[in-house]
Amino acid sequence: MKQRYRTANQIWVREHNLSILLRYLWGARGPIARSELTKTSGLNKSTVGNLLFQLREWNFIVERGTSEPSVGRPGEVFDINENTGQIIGVEIGISEISVILTDFKANPLWRKTYKLSVKTPDLIFNQAEELIAKAIQKSHSNPSPLLGIGIGISALVGKDLETLLFPPDLKTINKNLSKLWQEKFDLPVLVANDANAATIGEQLLGDNVLPDENFIYIASGEGLGGGVVINGKLYGGNDGFAGEFGHITINPDGEKCQCGNKGCWENYVSPQAILSKWILHPESQLDAQTMLQKNSEEIMTMFSKAIAEDDPAALEVLKDIAQYFGIGISSLANIFNPKSIVLGGQITICGEKLLPIIRKDVEKRLMPVIKENLEILYATYGQDSVLIGTTALIINAILNNPSEWCPSEEKEIIYSVF
Ligand SMILES: [Zn+2]
Repeated sequence: MKQRYRTANQIWVREHNLSILLRYLWGARGPIARSELTKTSGLNKSTVGNLLFQLREWNFIVERGTSEPSVGRPGEVFDINENTGQIIGVEIGISEISVILTDFKANPLWRKTYKLSVKTPDLIFNQAEELIAKAIQKSHSNPSPLLGIGIGISALVGKDLETLLFPPDLKTINKNLSKLWQEKFDLPVLVANDANAATIGEQLLGDNVLPDENFIYIASGEGLGGGVVINGKLYGGNDGFAGEFGHITINPDGEKCQCGNKGCWENYVSPQAILSKWILHPESQLDAQTMLQKNSEEIMTMFSKAIAEDDPAALEVLKDIAQYFGIGISSLANIFNPKSIVLGGQITICGEKLLPIIRKDVEKRLMPVIKENLEILYATYGQDSVLIGTTALIINAILNNPSEWCPSEEKEIIYSVF
């Protein structure tokens, strides 16, 4: 029978405490004194000393001099070691693939974006493999080892990691990319839905949320996805498909969506929706024929430029889009009562004029107790959120189970991001 609740033995308790201490060190975002770690973790002095010794042995942390407290003796100061190893992150989007090589603190060492010349999943995977091989080659110029490869893919990824559903038609493909690429590259590979990768990226590498915060991440692009973080943990749902906010019905008589439903939220806030409204606006100066040839990135770049120049038609469309964001966001706030709702991806290019209109709209829809502490913010890495988030998949897995990732031992990686 499957064990429903994990019982605690000494090994598990030690693993758990190693993870907690490493998370405190990560959350400090810089050097932190041993005494401070003892105070904040609630662990006793000798346990902290023992765990720090182990984490240093494994090279995850380094000592950075001593602290000079106002009272008592100076103590050692520790920090996450950016030279623990390198990480490869890959964002597989609808029209392009981006790859990044970073150190353990996600500082970029090299990155590249390639337009996708092919659209079928198997050919896209082949192209991704070529880029991963290039990144591995680049990593050889740095002496620190490769820790793993994080993949954020523009598809629904089942908890079983076998089921992938690809837009636009959400056709199901059974392919365990984690397993396949782990064998091919002889490195741990974690695959996640792109919005989930961006959510973990915001949590671990962003400026907006605290480590144990309840927050919702909304990833905007051609579709609309997201992640729900409850008590610091990403919620996957029963099968791993939680967070498909884009398919919430906001208009029962709306247009048919690719998912089969009608009036889905994403069809009211996507670049294509923006373009249609913008072209149809009576004061629009756009040439419909030319505009319909443009991809979503080009549309959003033109739209943001028009907003910055106070183009009346673009500003009207912005208000309309903000209202639809407001409708969806207030529904999410009512369901989850989060501390923050973070908006990332392509929509962030609209800049500072969008958020105040969304906030005002949400304000009028929510009960005082829900809206009182709610913050609506742009993601720290804007359009780069998914790519940066792919490296956070590996960092997150290491923070969860440091002993499984220590350089000298045989790895038994837990693949799931939930
Ligand atoms: Zn839909």
